[in-house]
Parts: sequence; structure tokens; C-alpha cells
Amino acid sequence: MSTILVIAEHRRSELRPVSLELISAAQGLKKNAEDKVVVAIIGSQAESFVPALSVTGVDELILVKASVIDFDPDVFEAAVSALIASRMPTVVLLPHSVDSLGYAATLASNAGYGFATDVFIAEYQADELVATRGGYNQKVNVEVDFPGKTTVLMTIRASVFKVLEGGANPVVTNFDLPPVQSRSQNKDFIELGGGNDIDITTVEFIMSIGRGIGEETNVEQFRELAETAGATLCCSRPIADAGWLPKSRQVGQSGKVVGSCKLYVALGISGSIQHMAGMKHVPTIIAVNTDPGASIFTIAKYGIVADIFDIEEELNSQLAA
Ligand SMILES: Cc1cc2nc3c(=O)[nH]c(=O)nc-3n(C[C@H](O)[C@H](O)[C@H](O)COP(=O)(O)OP(=O)(O)OC[C@H]3O[C@@H](n4cnc5c(N)ncnc54)[C@H](O)[C@@H]3O)c2cc1C
Repeated sequence: MSTILVIAEHRRSELRPVSLELISAAQGLKKNAEDKVVVAIIGSQAESFVPALSVTGVDELILVKASVIDFDPDVFEAAVSALIASRMPTVVLLPHSVDSLGYAATLASNAGYGFATDVFIAEYQADELVATRGGYNQKVNVEVDFPGKTTVLMTIRASVFKVLEGGANPVVTNFDLPPVQSRSQNKDFIELGGGNDIDITTVEFIMSIGRGIGEETNVEQFRELAETAGATLCCSRPIADAGWLPKSRQVGQSGKVVGSCKLYVALGISGSIQHMAGMKHVPTIIAVNTDPGASIFTIAKYGIVADIFDIEEELNSQLAA
């Protein structure tokens, strides 16, 4: 029997959805029915996450009572290290996030564990654990194996593994963490622009603009189009980085995953892996791009090779009719 350990992630007292995706990824790593998926949640309010983590696929829930409410790299590293020493998992799954980037590599390196980041396929190939991740700026897929490693840490890309449906009653256990000397202190959370803005993760219809809009002065006409069409205007990262729209409107890996969106219109967006991480699950994606080879067309249900300004004009006249 082997154990697959999932480290759940929370922020500001809310479970991050990727935690549930990790449970689904862990299921795919069970080699036989006796293998166990064990989920650990670390923090002073660990018990408050029991209902949210009592889901299909979880055999045991470990509450690691720590001195901190939110993420702290020293505390989390010590906690995961102690959990591994105690449970001896074959695989440890963590979200690929700013939190895990703060301690997972150090932990794996210090202990000599196998390690792969930003993994989007985790599987056994002929009894060999293999992680697939992007390489050369996501231009190729790289398969990584871990010869001779009895424990492997993987950070898993968000929005890849489909959450399993249904609740469960996992065994809940407590795990004592020895005191940890933390070197940092969480003073406050700062929303990067648009703190009071609409929550784009809850809206159903999004019109999203990318670098194809060219200049800041062109934002307004797309804002008006979105408003007329009843859509929420969002964007790719360059638009948010330039300050043309608030950061709260950025879709993607370092932006938001638009979990409730049903219709996504991508205007002048190339379809980088980081952008698609936030929207590729949307059932209906319509992409407009002048480049027929743009990656966004690989996930679009409807693709239009055209200039977004022509499409904008056409849509405006259709909506006005
Ligand atoms: C760690 C990390 C995290 C990141 N996180 C995110 C993220 O969360 N979200 C995100 O979006 N990006 C993110 N990025 C950036 C990402 O790699 C891309 O650089 C970005 O998504 C590109 O944005 P874009 O598609 O708008 O621009 P481009 O890639 O420049 O594409 C512009 C597209 O517009 C088309 N175009 C130009 N003019 C027209 C026209 N008139 N009509 C129609 N089409 C036109 C072009 O053919 C092109 O395909 C991240 C990068 C890193 C390294």
C-alpha cells in the first residue's frame, strides 16, 4: 500500500479550488485499491476546512495545527517535511502556486526527493512515475521521471484536473507540528488594483481583450461593446500590466480562473499557456485573431480569422439593429 499526500491550499480563510483538483490528480496515481489519498491542511484554522475537503477520493484528512492562519514558507516547509517523515508518501502533490514556489524546491532539494514543477500530466508508465510539464517556454512537452526516488514532490498546474463530484466521510486526524521559527510575518493582503471590482470568477459571459487592441485609447470601444452585449470585459496579462484594465480583470495563471464562465470571446489574444490556464475549460470559446496559426484557435469552439476592429464594428451594427 502506498500513500499519495495532497497539500491543500487556502488563502484568507478560503480553500483554493486547486486543492480539489489535486485530489483528482492523486486518484490517477493510485496503483491499486489499497493505496490511500491523504490530504493535509496546514494552519491555525485547519479544522474549518474539514467540510470543504470531505470529498470523493479522500481517505484521510490530516489537520496540521500551525501557529499561522495563512501561508508561511518556514511553517509549511517544516509541516510538509514532518508529514513526509511520518507518512512516507510515494508522491506529494502541491498546487503550482506562489505558495509552493516559496518552499517546495528547497524541501525537495534538502531531502533529495524527486521534484517536478507545473505538472499537467502525472501518471505511471509501465510502473514508472512520469510527470509531464512544459519546456522551452511551453513549446514542447517534457516527460520527467525520477529514477531511484522513493518520494517525489510535484507542483500541479491549476485548471487541468477535473474535480471529482460528490462528498465523503474521510477519517480526520490531527498532526502535531513542533514549534517552527518563522522568518517572515504576514502583515496584510493587498489587492493588486480593482479591489472593489466585479469578481470575474463568478460571471458567465466574458469578452476579453489582448495585445491585439494595440493602444490604450482602443480599450474604451471594447468596454462599450462588452457593455452592450451584456459581457464582462476582461483581458490578458499585458493589458493589465500596462494598467489599461485593473489586475482584477486579468484571466490566466497569474490572474484569475474564470470558473463560472460559459461564453468567452477572446479578441486579439494569442492563447499563451498562461492565459489558457484561466479559461480553456469554458464550454464555448470564440476567438478572433488575424493570425490563423494563433494557439487560441486550438481550444476555440468558433474561430474567426479577422481583424478585431472589423468584428467590433460588425457586432456593434448587429447589436444596434
Ligand atoms: C509566470 C507567468 C505568468 C503569466 N500569467 C499570465 C496570465 O495570468 N494571463 C495572461 O494572459 N498572460 C500571462 N502571462 C503572459 C503570457 O505568457 C503571454 O505573454 C500573454 O498571455 C500574451 O498576451 P496576448 O495574447 O494579449 O498578447 P500576444 O501574445 O502579443 O498576442 C496578441 C495577439 O493579437 C493578435 N492580433 C494583433 N492585432 C490584431 C488585430 N487587429 N485583430 C485580431 N488579432 C490581432 C496577434 O495575432 C496575436 O496573436 C504570464 C507569463 C508568465 C511567464
